[in-house]
This record gives sequence, structure tokens and C-alpha cells, in this order.
Amino acid sequence: MKFNIKKKPRIFSVGFDKSFNVKDYGKVNVDHTDKEFELLTFSNKKKDYDFGITNWGYYATPSINKRLRNNGFQTFLVKNIYNNIFIMVVDDNKLTKFKKYIEFENQKILSRLDLFENDDDFIKKLMVSKKTGKYCENLKCLNNHKNIHEIFKYIKKPPNEPNYGIKNYKRKVVKCQNCNHFFAIHKINTNKFYKENYSIISHGKNILKKFNKIKKLKSQSDNFHRVNRFLNFFKKYKNKKISLLDVGSGLSIFLDAIKNKVKWKLIGIEPDVNFVKFGREKLGLNIIHSNLNVKKLNNKKFDIISLNKVAEHIKNPILFLKQCNNLLKKNGYIYIEVPDGLTASKQKKAKYQEEFAIDHLHVFSLDSLNNSLNSSSFKVILIDKIKEKSGKFTLYAFARKIK
Ligand SMILES: [Zn+2]
Repeated sequence: MKFNIKKKPRIFSVGFDKSFNVKDYGKVNVDHTDKEFELLTFSNKKKDYDFGITNWGYYATPSINKRLRNNGFQTFLVKNIYNNIFIMVVDDNKLTKFKKYIEFENQKILSRLDLFENDDDFIKKLMVSKKTGKYCENLKCLNNHKNIHEIFKYIKKPPNEPNYGIKNYKRKVVKCQNCNHFFAIHKINTNKFYKENYSIISHGKNILKKFNKIKKLKSQSDNFHRVNRFLNFFKKYKNKKISLLDVGSGLSIFLDAIKNKVKWKLIGIEPDVNFVKFGREKLGLNIIHSNLNVKKLNNKKFDIISLNKVAEHIKNPILFLKQCNNLLKKNGYIYIEVPDGLTASKQKKAKYQEEFAIDHLHVFSLDSLNNSLNSSSFKVILIDKIKEKSGKFTLYAFARKIK
């Protein structure tokens, strides 16, 4: 056995929004002869945990339902959002910390293992945890009344919301307790917002002024970091022949920021005529004036589609994502950004968080974004939740078309 311990550990960040630092102190080289390895935690020397090395592999834990349990550990089978499975051994004095971690990392406890009675019991427990997810896969959970709870009720326009001139301002936000997706409930026609005046009401009369203001922010803008993570993900394609469709291109701030950094063919599609004119005339971009529409795109297929804060405005996001899927070439990619409702709902004045604004018909959670992509024949490659420079709580995902 050989120990290579580093004096200065290599530190790297893991978890959502890179929230946890891991310190890598080096390596222990073993040959696979029978050995045992004991780990003692500083806090409580009695709580030992050992790791067995054999000539065929490892004993990852001591006996779960006997030694670990007697030493004050509970053991769980846990699944993360990518369907990776872990065995986690938890100090029973630190269960609250563990539950917090699981919740933040959006992991699911499939079963507790140290109370394992027999095979049937184990299978039964797994089946129960599987059953609850079904309704949520296609965002049909709104019809599963048992799980739907009212979260916010509005009877007048919140002070920080743009004035769309709505006469009878009545709306609710409800939440699915299983997948944590938020649905807007009201009779207000938000579709009307985007036809003519959305750009003016939401961004002011002078689009150029707004555009320059964001550009001036440089690394303090949300767009700066969006462009970075986007180009970092696609870095090996930078100089390839790639076509990108930016759906709901808005101010064109995203397309403008990447146009000189890649050799791609860039197209935007946008329903608001003021935004379209601005993108074409001031920025020289190719922007189509339309909602997402196959005919307007001449039945063209794209390598990448980007959806920057768009899906939350759509009545049926699953249908919309399926349409996007159809517009992609084989193995094409989608980049999607949506508001993070679950994190926003935990803030002090959650009701007035912009994530729950009137024009958001859906506010997502990691689970519901993941489910929505999976139900639209995408495989999620990378998904994360972040706090943006503007203070917005955002989820983003890169996913590949699989059908
Ligand atoms: Zn649900």
C-alpha cells in the first residue's frame, strides 16, 4: 500500500451552482489483496467506517443493517437528476444536514437500506417511490388535484410588474407538490402581450438604449455568463459549420454577443415587430418575424436551438419543446433557460419575485424541467440552477435530441 498525500489539496467545486468545494488530498495505491481500510471522523472517534479491499473488488460499506446501524449510521439508496445511483451513509446526528443537502441537490431517496427486512419489503418501497412520478412526466400534474396546492393569489398588479393595462387583474399560482412545478391560473390572454407592445412595455420605448445599457454591464450582465456557458459547452464546434436558431430572440443581445465568436449561421425568430426591426436594422442579424413556425423557417433543420427565457411564456411547453425537437437535425442540441420557481418560492417576498410575473404561465423546478425535456425526446446532458447577476433564479439545461 502506498500513500501519496498532497500538502496542498486540489480544490474543485461540485453540485448545483458549484456550491460545494471538494478537497482532493491525494491517492492511496492498493493492490487488490485482502486489506481493510478504516476511516475515522474527527468529530466522533467511535463512529468508524471501514472499507474492505479484496482480490475481486471492494466492500463499499460494513454491514448496513447491523454494524453501521449499531454505530449510529442510517444508509440510503439515493438517485440524482441524471439517474445516477449512490449509497449514502448518514450520521444519525446529522440527518437534518443530510436532508437539506438532498433537497438542494435535487436528489431522491429511493429507499432506506438499514431497516431492510426482506426482499419483498425492499421492492415494495422502491415501487412506492416510482409511482408518484408518473403524472408529472408530461406536466399533466395540474389535473392531479391531490398534489396541487395554491401558493400565491393576486388581486391587483404587483408594484414592480410592467403595466400591461389588464382590466380584471385576478390570478393564482399553484404548485405540484411532487415535481415542484408552478402553474399560472387565470383568464388573462398573455399571448396578446407579445404581438405589438411587449418590447415597449417590458423594455421601454428606446430599444437601443436598453440594448446598450446591458452591453455596458459586461461581466455584470446575465447575458455575459449565458454566452460563456453556452460557448464553453459547444467549444469544439466553434469553427464548424453549425446552424443556430434562437427562438424568441427578443433584444437579440444573445445572438449579437456570439456572432463574432463563432463561424455559425445564426437565425433568430421573434413575434414582436419592434425587436425584429431592431435586430435586423441595427445589428444586421437575420431575424424572422413570427412565432415558432415550421413554414416560416422553410422546413429547415438546425444543429442547435436556444431558448432563453421563452418556455415559461408558452401555454403548453411540452408541445413547444416537441416542435423544437422536430426542427433539430439528428443529434441536435437544445439550450434552455427558464425561471427557477422552487428557489424563488423560498425567498422572503416570494410572491413578488419576478419569476412569478404575470407573463410566466409556467415556472419550473429542476425536476419539472428535466421531466419536460425527457418527455419531448431529449436526453439531458447538463442541468443546473444558478443565481444570476441580476438576482434572477434560473435553471438551465443542455440536452440532445434522441428521436
Ligand atoms: Zn408534478
